[in-house]
Amino acid sequence: MEIVHITKESGIPLIGCIAFGIIDRGTDLLQVRPTSVCNLHCKYCSVSANNYDIHPANFTVDKDYLIEEVEKVVKFKETECEINLDSVGELTTYAKLPELVKGLKSIKGVKSISMQTNGTLLTGDMLIALEKAGVNHINLSINSLDANLAADLSGRPGYSLDHILQIAKMIADSSIELLIAPVWIPKINDADIPKLIELAKKLNAKIGIQKYETYRYSRKIKGAKQTTFWKFYRQLKDMEKESGIKLVLTASDFLIHKTKRIPAVFEPGEKVQVNVKCPGWIKGQMIGAAKGVCVSVNDCKTPIGKNARVKILENKNSIYVAGMVK
Ligand code: SF4
Repeated sequence: MEIVHITKESGIPLIGCIAFGIIDRGTDLLQVRPTSVCNLHCKYCSVSANNYDIHPANFTVDKDYLIEEVEKVVKFKETECEINLDSVGELTTYAKLPELVKGLKSIKGVKSISMQTNGTLLTGDMLIALEKAGVNHINLSINSLDANLAADLSGRPGYSLDHILQIAKMIADSSIELLIAPVWIPKINDADIPKLIELAKKLNAKIGIQKYETYRYSRKIKGAKQTTFWKFYRQLKDMEKESGIKLVLTASDFLIHKTKRIPAVFEPGEKVQVNVKCPGWIKGQMIGAAKGVCVSVNDCKTPIGKNARVKILENKNSIYVAGMVK
């Protein structure tokens, strides 16, 4: 597996690719993705991280380049923003995470920093460093309170539930707000959901239960069945009544507001020329750059450094995907 290190000098823009950089969904919460590397192999992973047949390349972004580009977007937004550090992999594999947090927090207009993690690489020292650097909220994945099931779901034999529970307690005891973030996988961890709600109550934490969903590139768990949104929310409402803790969370619970969004530079159907910079995240793709954005080009055999003529297929949330023009 190749790791592409993205620096300012690489000429690879930080807007346009789902796997790294900045994602603007038209709100005051900006998703910032410094790496796509992951240390687990979760059986339910919606992106199939560490499946090299699907993702032959991963990415890490230079800290200073990322901070510089986030600053430009925050300035464009003309409102205070939350930075949500997340990843299509595991954020804590990023070597300079506390330094990145510190740099992002010092940007004028950044009001808070949240981050997602599976917790496996977090240590007490790292938590203290992240707290000092300015992290305000941590969303921690815990899917089961059964040590064997939790390890099995993680796809890594060395996974330690005890370690994750210690980390949860440390976060709860710090100034960082903890949100426990299980994926509810029907028929697999049903019995754990009420126990995780109790854990959240005990730690005075929030809980954000996520629905198990499968996509084109997901790893699918044998025996697990996707439920409908209607049934999922009805079950959460029932458990809300029983537990007295809020389980149906909306944008207002996370204080997210609509803002102007980064304007699209290409529209679907448009034929454009891109300069090919590196392999893409999905097998067969190459990433090209044009007009300050990345374009992931499917089935692209154009060598790095050459130009390719492509047709834009998607531009949702400034994530550009294209096909080759024959
Ligand atoms: S679910 Fe998250 S932690 Fe697990 S393999 Fe996928 S990206 Fe990694």
